[in-house]
Amino acid sequence: TKWVYSFGGGTAEGRAADIEMLGGKGANLAEMCTLGLPVPPGLTIITQACNEFYKAGRHLNAELKAQVTSGIARIEALTERSFGSNDHPLLLSVRSGARASMPGMMDTVLNLGLNDETVAGLARDAGDERFAWDSYRRFIQMYGDVVMGLGHDLFEDILEDEKARCGRELETEMTAEEWRAVVVRYKQVIEEEAGEPFPQDPQTQLWGAIGSVFASWLNPRATTYRMLHNISQEWGTAVNVQAMVFGNLGNSSATGVAFTRNPSTGENLLFGEFLVNAQGEDVVAGIRTPQNITEAQRIASGSEKPSLEKLMPEAFGELLAICRRLEAHYRDLQDIEFTIERGRLWMLQTRAGKRTAKAALKIAVDMVEERLISRDDAVARIDPASLDQVLHTTIDPQARRTVIGSGLPASPGAASGAIVFTSEDAVRARKEGRDVILVRVETSPEDIHGMSAAVGILTSRGGMTSHAAVVARGMGLPCVTGAGNLRVDLRNGLLIGGGLSLKAGEIITIDGSSGQVIKGAVPMLKPELSGDFARIMEWADASRRMRVRTNADTPADARTARAFGAEGIGLCRTEHMFFEGERINVMREMILASDEAGRRAALAKLLPMQRSDFVELFSIMHGLPVTIRLLDPPLHEFLPKAEDEIAEVATRMGLTPRELSERIDALHEFNPMLGHRGCRLAISYPEICEMQARAIFEAAVEAARQTGAAVVPEIMVPLVGLKAELDYVKASIDAVAREVIGAAGLPIDYLVGTMIELPRAALRAHVIAESADFFSFGTNDLTQTTFGISRDDAAQFLETYMRKGIIEKDPFVQIDYDGVGELIQIAAERGRRTKNALKLGICGEHGGDPTSIRFCEERGLDYVSCSPFRVPIARLAAAQAAI
Ligand code: ADP
Ligand code: MG
Ligand code: MG
Repeated sequence: TKWVYSFGGGTAEGRAADIEMLGGKGANLAEMCTLGLPVPPGLTIITQACNEFYKAGRHLNAELKAQVTSGIARIEALTERSFGSNDHPLLLSVRSGARASMPGMMDTVLNLGLNDETVAGLARDAGDERFAWDSYRRFIQMYGDVVMGLGHDLFEDILEDEKARCGRELETEMTAEEWRAVVVRYKQVIEEEAGEPFPQDPQTQLWGAIGSVFASWLNPRATTYRMLHNISQEWGTAVNVQAMVFGNLGNSSATGVAFTRNPSTGENLLFGEFLVNAQGEDVVAGIRTPQNITEAQRIASGSEKPSLEKLMPEAFGELLAICRRLEAHYRDLQDIEFTIERGRLWMLQTRAGKRTAKAALKIAVDMVEERLISRDDAVARIDPASLDQVLHTTIDPQARRTVIGSGLPASPGAASGAIVFTSEDAVRARKEGRDVILVRVETSPEDIHGMSAAVGILTSRGGMTSHAAVVARGMGLPCVTGAGNLRVDLRNGLLIGGGLSLKAGEIITIDGSSGQVIKGAVPMLKPELSGDFARIMEWADASRRMRVRTNADTPADARTARAFGAEGIGLCRTEHMFFEGERINVMREMILASDEAGRRAALAKLLPMQRSDFVELFSIMHGLPVTIRLLDPPLHEFLPKAEDEIAEVATRMGLTPRELSERIDALHEFNPMLGHRGCRLAISYPEICEMQARAIFEAAVEAARQTGAAVVPEIMVPLVGLKAELDYVKASIDAVAREVIGAAGLPIDYLVGTMIELPRAALRAHVIAESADFFSFGTNDLTQTTFGISRDDAAQFLETYMRKGIIEKDPFVQIDYDGVGELIQIAAERGRRTKNALKLGICGEHGGDPTSIRFCEERGLDYVSCSPFRVPIARLAAAQAAI
């Protein structure tokens, strides 16, 4: 096996494309060599060797060692130095480098090859004693920490002690003699603590360091990092062994890191920091305040210390030219590491730089203008999920914050407001014009009005798909759920956490993008929807095939979604209109009526309310398609639960609390999700469906007259499993349509379709399609019914499933390709076999998830529908899926 790939001297055995084999660092070092950039020569041990290392019980095999040895011979030839010799000693860095960048998670050892003798050779070569001893103490410390596992603090304590003893404030002030004393103490402490001396033999040092870098793949922080970032534990790390160049060789030497453009604003200006007379780890360790690279950056930051541009103009000029070269080559923002040794610039690393969403948008747009990338490249490059950062108000990253607790980032954006513990208080505060955060243990449908009156929602219980989370996302409200380290003490009206007790009325800030809960108000950044964002969205729209609609239950939702570019409504859940204000009372009257006449009387009161809602929705959508779903949830969801509320409702209805409780009990279901809901309601109580259909058609007539735009309502029948169910409901819709349209004398086109949310419906799609103009995949219920998992109860065990590797992704967040996905595919194929023009869409939460959107594109769906704030994300994801 070829375990080792060499680079240096203007050539390399690997290239950037070999990232799986060489790791990111090794592949890009090789690429930079081939580009002719100044890179210290070295070699890369491939990632597969890491897996072999573990298989062999943490041993390096002889074949690998032989290849490393001949690779080092090549480095010796190129540098005219020799490893382990006193005469022109070669020093090496031994660096980790996985396929995916894992900054700072694994180990690196610098200055390897130094011992009590080679240190003299190094001093002689450089003509600088101090530098040699500085390098030696650095090496012993890193080796003792990384390879011998003695811990950083042991050495830091000695260092601080010696600095104090010598009266030095900065490490750069230490003399050769003083460093020599530190070295003596370092070696002593190693012998004491490890029970063996610091190894003087460079070969021993080398194999020890390589083994440690492999071993660092499995250190706890690296393992955790991979889990958090979805990086496979199987990949292993490569090891890069490279000739050292020295940033600590006096005041004409330096080391630094830079971004080819500003990674937080995207501005096209080199951006970074460096330290004079230092080695790499000093910049990260923050022992001295680093200096700015450009003059512009120095002036902006108000720093007194000279920039690299001023201090070392020649090296700076070279760095600038290299950065341009790298960008032109990689056609992306690069994050680089460099060292200047006595005025000479060396490149030590390059990789695609991490950036904020704002910077990502600006860089992509600028690079199109600079003709570096195409529009499709620009669109493909933006992470759709990151748009949340620009669509919502966010906390100023510079802001100081007192975090009192944290939970799940359930709905993005940040908000500050006074604490309220009840929905009534939230509504009252809104009327008084105050901003409030609704703080609850969890929320229920009765909290809708309180939630919509708040600027943010915080719950101490519940997951990413809890009621609070789903509703908040729909409303575009920031929300943190499941903040288990906060206690909501309703009895005493306190929010307790982080050692503080906050009363109602005190101000808190929640960050729904990170899950943080913060005391007081913090400075915020407003969303920026024009400029670069608008350009990218325009290009995305030009490249996508699928339409993007919104799930909107209220005129406010519909307006927001239009502003975000929704091309219609894919799901209007009419029941949400029944919770508002007085309507809930009329709804309860209808539900509790003892006969059809009673129900019809109540429905007659609901009709004008529903009609005016629809008129508004149709007008806002101005000719765009609007899909309205008939009443779906089981009726008892509308009934009071708490005793005092039951008493109040009973009084209003002229019943005793006891009588009302009995009615409520009669409506109780053991398994409401599979109970008396969806089209089953329309079949049991046709008068409900008739009222809704009438409201829709009358509204369509009125809106068409008002706006002059054609209104084509799409009426959607929920939870259909049998064609006969759809036929029954459709017949009554058609009858109402004939009557209303006839009376108005205005032709109104309309569609009647069904949700596909039961496996039976998917399987019988060819038959159901005979009666349906469209299918909309209700993937929330379809996932529940396919898995037989109730979404409301799933949080308790899905989390365990994911931790134990039984499932990889929450199927309520990302569509289950294999099971639910196959049902969708079957339904799409069979439905279209019957009716070629059958319109297909998706309206579950998945409609806003980029991976699920890709699935919809692959299956040829006509549109996706998602909550208003996810519309831009869906537009971008739909384009990426089509490119
Ligand atoms: P990380 O992946 O944590 O960034 P690196 O392997 O990049 O670790 O090493 C950290 C730092 O060590 C580099 O930024 C650089 O400053 C320094 N370094 C690594 N290799 C060399 C070298 N050959 N010569 C000089 N400094 C080096
Ligand atoms: Mg690095
Ligand atoms: Mg459903």
